[in-house]
Amino acid sequence: MQKLLFFITILSTLNSYTQSPSKLHRKAILVDTHNDVLSSQVLEGKDINQRLSDSHSDLYRWEKGGVDVQFFSVWTDKVPRNKEGFYKDALEEIDSLHRIILRNPSRMTYAENYREVKRRSHQNKLVALIGVEGGHMIEDDMSKLDALYEKGMRYLTLSWNNSTSWATSAMDETFNADKLKHKGLTDFGKQVVKRLNELGVIVDLSHVGEQTFYDAIAITSKPVILSHSSVWSICPVFRNVKDDQIKAVAKNGGVVCINFYSGFISNEYNQQSVNIGVTKKKAFQDSLYNLSIDSVKVTAAWEKYYNDELQKFRPTLSQMVDHIDYIVKLVGDEYVGIGSDYDGVNSVPIGLEDVSTYPKITEELLKRGYSSKSIKKILGGNVLRVMKANFK
Ligand SMILES: [Zn+2]
Repeated sequence: MQKLLFFITILSTLNSYTQSPSKLHRKAILVDTHNDVLSSQVLEGKDINQRLSDSHSDLYRWEKGGVDVQFFSVWTDKVPRNKEGFYKDALEEIDSLHRIILRNPSRMTYAENYREVKRRSHQNKLVALIGVEGGHMIEDDMSKLDALYEKGMRYLTLSWNNSTSWATSAMDETFNADKLKHKGLTDFGKQVVKRLNELGVIVDLSHVGEQTFYDAIAITSKPVILSHSSVWSICPVFRNVKDDQIKAVAKNGGVVCINFYSGFISNEYNQQSVNIGVTKKKAFQDSLYNLSIDSVKVTAAWEKYYNDELQKFRPTLSQMVDHIDYIVKLVGDEYVGIGSDYDGVNSVPIGLEDVSTYPKITEELLKRGYSSKSIKKILGGNVLRVMKANFK
């Protein structure tokens, strides 16, 4: 009897060890496939080695969040949009990332291949990788794509919200279909996908239109990712992914990495953002113009009012996890991951305020009955599999 009791105690201790959210979270390799801190903060002169109060990300909070591998998004959107300047900005952002790593050797490191990712993710440092967001960054020039690969690009998002001459975006395919000269990938676009496959750069299909999505997935020889996209069936906005797309990603062996933006997680938030903008903007602004307040101040006041009103409708962390759940139920636990879009969005769910909050996702998944094995896949294992299949 005493022996049996001893055995039961050991078993329950082991069980609580494997089920402890914080231990499981620390053991798992957490990969986030999309963070915009380079373009939104670093280029503005902010130092992510300091504790920043008005951003989602800094090195202190990444450590607290237990993040092991972070894809840093390289992106700009010059207005007016033209073909000059994107590539130059990409090089500048990549240089800025390398400078941060050089200045913080005990907290950050860099990886260019799968072996380095695996080895360095166990060194208690944030492993940085580069993802370039938007085909416009290569300025229609294959040699610039090759040069960005040499500089460390390990995924390329075929389009951002803007279409290129060779790939149409979700935004344009949805809202400007009649103005498009072509739809999907052109021959050059197909060459881009092939070149990415050859080089060992992951094809990222976030932001792209459905036609581009299906054209790309038909010709890629490697698994793809959607670096920051959520589920259309829960929140039907133009750049979330539909069930058939999720099934196509699963067939390809790829991963959909969930975007945390409130307006992509909650349809109510999305609806309210439209409602408040459409119904209240004019009356609000007119009331201030009547008081002879100048237009810059009126715009600033409107933005503050609009954001304050909207924040009442922020979704919760649990609603973000519903998106993970949905994909797991639709196609299994091998095809979903995390692509927060921190520092690229102005509203995130309650409970997911910044990069220190990832452990709460592990807690929530455990609460929902997910196994340790499943959680490890979702937090990073699935994306690691795609890296291994793509990287040289
Ligand atoms: Zn984006």
